Amino acid sequence: MMQQYLALKAGYPNTLVFYRMGDFYELFFGDAEKAARLLDITLTQRGQSAGSPVVMAGIPFHALDNYLARLIKLGESAAICEQVGDVATSKGPVERKVMRVVTPGTLTDSELLSDKSEALLMAVHPGARTGCGLAWMSVTQGIVFLAQCASDELADWMARIAPGEVLYSAEVSPAFEKSVQSLASQQGVGGTRMVAVLRPAWAFDSGLGERKLLEQLQTASLAAWDAQALTDAHAAAAALLEYAEHTQGRALTHVKSLQVAHNDELIDLPSTTRRNLELTQTLRGESSPTLLSLLDVCHTGMGSRQLRTWLLEPARDRGPARARLAALGVLRQGLGQRLRQSLKGASDVERITARTALRQVRPRELVGLGLTLARAAELAQGLAQELSADTAPVLLSKLGNDLIPPERCASLLRSALHAEPAALVRDGGVIADGFDAELDELRAIQNNCDGFLIDLETRERERTGITNLRVQFNKVHGFYIEVSQGQVSKVPDDYRRRQTLKNAERFITPELKAFEDKALSAQERALAREKWLFENLLDELQAFIPDLTRLARAIAALDALCALAERSLTLQWHEPQFVNEPCIEIRGGRHPVVEARLNETTGGSFIANDTLMGAKQRMQVITGPNMGGKSTYMRQVAVIVLLASMGSYVPAESCRLGPIDAIHTRIGAADDLANAQSTFMVEMTEAAQILNAVTSKEAPGRPKLPVLPRGEDRAQPGPGGAYSLVLMDEIGRGTSTFDGLALAGGIAAHLHDKAKAFTLFATHYFELTEFPAQHHAAINVHVSAVEGSGKANIVFLHQIEPGPASRSYGIQVARLAGVPTSVVQHARHALAALENQSSQNRDQVDLFAPPPVSEAPEAHPLQTALSGIDPDALSPREALEQLYTLKKLAQSTT
Ligand code: ATP
Repeated sequence: MMQQYLALKAGYPNTLVFYRMGDFYELFFGDAEKAARLLDITLTQRGQSAGSPVVMAGIPFHALDNYLARLIKLGESAAICEQVGDVATSKGPVERKVMRVVTPGTLTDSELLSDKSEALLMAVHPGARTGCGLAWMSVTQGIVFLAQCASDELADWMARIAPGEVLYSAEVSPAFEKSVQSLASQQGVGGTRMVAVLRPAWAFDSGLGERKLLEQLQTASLAAWDAQALTDAHAAAAALLEYAEHTQGRALTHVKSLQVAHNDELIDLPSTTRRNLELTQTLRGESSPTLLSLLDVCHTGMGSRQLRTWLLEPARDRGPARARLAALGVLRQGLGQRLRQSLKGASDVERITARTALRQVRPRELVGLGLTLARAAELAQGLAQELSADTAPVLLSKLGNDLIPPERCASLLRSALHAEPAALVRDGGVIADGFDAELDELRAIQNNCDGFLIDLETRERERTGITNLRVQFNKVHGFYIEVSQGQVSKVPDDYRRRQTLKNAERFITPELKAFEDKALSAQERALAREKWLFENLLDELQAFIPDLTRLARAIAALDALCALAERSLTLQWHEPQFVNEPCIEIRGGRHPVVEARLNETTGGSFIANDTLMGAKQRMQVITGPNMGGKSTYMRQVAVIVLLASMGSYVPAESCRLGPIDAIHTRIGAADDLANAQSTFMVEMTEAAQILNAVTSKEAPGRPKLPVLPRGEDRAQPGPGGAYSLVLMDEIGRGTSTFDGLALAGGIAAHLHDKAKAFTLFATHYFELTEFPAQHHAAINVHVSAVEGSGKANIVFLHQIEPGPASRSYGIQVARLAGVPTSVVQHARHALAALENQSSQNRDQVDLFAPPPVSEAPEAHPLQTALSGIDPDALSPREALEQLYTLKKLAQSTT
């Protein structure tokens, strides 16, 4: 057995091999030690192999999924080795085979996958020149994506795609290998784990890749996708498909779609933007409250995944967003509500379809699929009834058509499967009665057992005169006739003794033996027949894979649209309007997540604000008190632009939006200790990336990647072309005041003069409020606050108003935050001194001097009382009374 194990293990040197032994999966040697450490399972030793004890660790077979889920989270892979031979007939160890390899990027099992996100596999291949070929896919989605990018763009692509695994060739340069590994480990920090996997160099062959793609797509040329020239991406695709097939143990027949991605097709949302805007994760790494968690009221995992893609990958071409907005307009009229009811509880058709193609599907999943097909028919009918043929939005009509289920498939599933089948085919009870005559007959034999036994018992009692004779069955001895010891003399000659008990004898007769053979073999044959029928069913279902894939995408899109319609009604959002001239005009805009939090926690209402930007007014310098709402305001503008671009209604009274090609953000300060970067270094690196990105798109002569045909918006981006939106929050705060101020000024000037960008520039440097005076396209705005009663109180109005802020209120905010009074007083004194000498020599201000007596804390009552006493004027008795008074005062004030 060890020989068999070692031969199997040799094929999976870097993967934990789970070797099935009876009711357990065992791991051996190094694998066992690693699994014991990672999974906290017991390590044991047994027997000897090559002179040393065999170290092993095992888990019960039914707990496999639990353990796999934990391993996958840790970025590990596992090869599952099953017994495939017949235990009863095999000589030596039963034949075993690795049936599947479970890896973080190729998961298909719903028990191991998150409902709401994809497990993605990616391959990267450096080209001969400076470019890099990329290929990626989700095995359950069945679409291969290809792209070619410049080497310095790889990090952004990897961050955006966020695969679970990234494959690279064993023969890349050490520098490339290092960069892939470091990019993978950086991604891991944010929560999702990315594993870099080394694959043999032969797997990255561009000729092989092209052939494999043609095979998958069953076509003669990649011209329809404009993908013939992407040879580096073909090489990556070769490795991608080879690895995916290797893990699934078979060809991926359901992978029939190809998409070529270009970096200038999507609105650029760098990872800093996705993080700072808290789109899918909070800054603390939680999944709620985020923009996605607010939007995602989908009823299916497919819908949630679709919504996430729309949010993270908004297209620059506004055609798709327009189509979604048109659909939302109709869904909001009550139709969406009704459709949502039918979507509740629908199965994950996309994943079930992939698992059917991979022949990994479980009976219950297919029953769920059958029920969902019936619902899809209802949905299609509902849509057809409610949409009038000439005015229906194109998108909804298309979805309605795609939702019509393949009738033969639905009826096949209905007739073939039990309504409540066993979990696994090997347990039987999966194929419905009436589907197959032979199976029905075999089942009838088993079901008729009871009748036959009662009949035989009655007949034998009559024949023998033994009134307490019983005909019975047990698993060990099979069928028998039991006669008590006192009656044994009456048994006829044809009774053969089977077993002797203390008080009874057990017999078998030729008739009973014949029945036993038939019944037992019927059970076995029924099981074998069911397995065969199930395999046949899978064969037949293969023909419906393309239809089911289309239907899955339609359900996903409809669910996501219905969720957006629901949100727009519940949260009172309005339809944005796309225009071709460069502008962001928002009236009554709100930050949806902050608004929802305010409602939940304090019941307070969010103060809406306007934003008016155009080619002639491209920059807002935002000042105002800490806590005034500057960051919220800037983020809300970005979130509204993003929501509109994905085709959602927006949290604003109205929104007119010109073409946008990127959203860049530089917000907040954080050390990136893991990557050995200080706060200020992170700040400047992010600023540099933004400045380079918004400037470079204007730079002439930059080589362009192949471009797909575009929609009408890209063809006519308007007189000003597409602008980027840039959010700069407190730039320059990580260093000394003068350095910071100088940098902030330089960056503002660059953004104003050289970049085609709408810029929201929040700052505490009052000096920058002079900026608009010298820069025609910039204006000052501020968030308002008023001082309440008492010098220390402040009321935030959160209202954006024209002009610069008058002051900063930092000290009041510190007081609100609970900074000790003495420190606040100290600071106030230093502030007054700084303000007084602003035009004089700064050195004269001693920031560390204690405040003058007049600002010293109020005197203690004891001190006041003492200073009111004139000892010379007191009689001895009065002095004693004063002493008692002081003592009392001391007790009452301590
Ligand atoms: P700092 O300068 O300290 O970074 P800030 O001006 O950027 O502060 P924000 O972080 O945007 O202030 O806002 C602080 C808090 O004020 C928010 O968490 C939110 O609770 C509240 N707030 C901000 N804007 C609004 C608004 N428009 N309506 C209601 N509450 C708001």
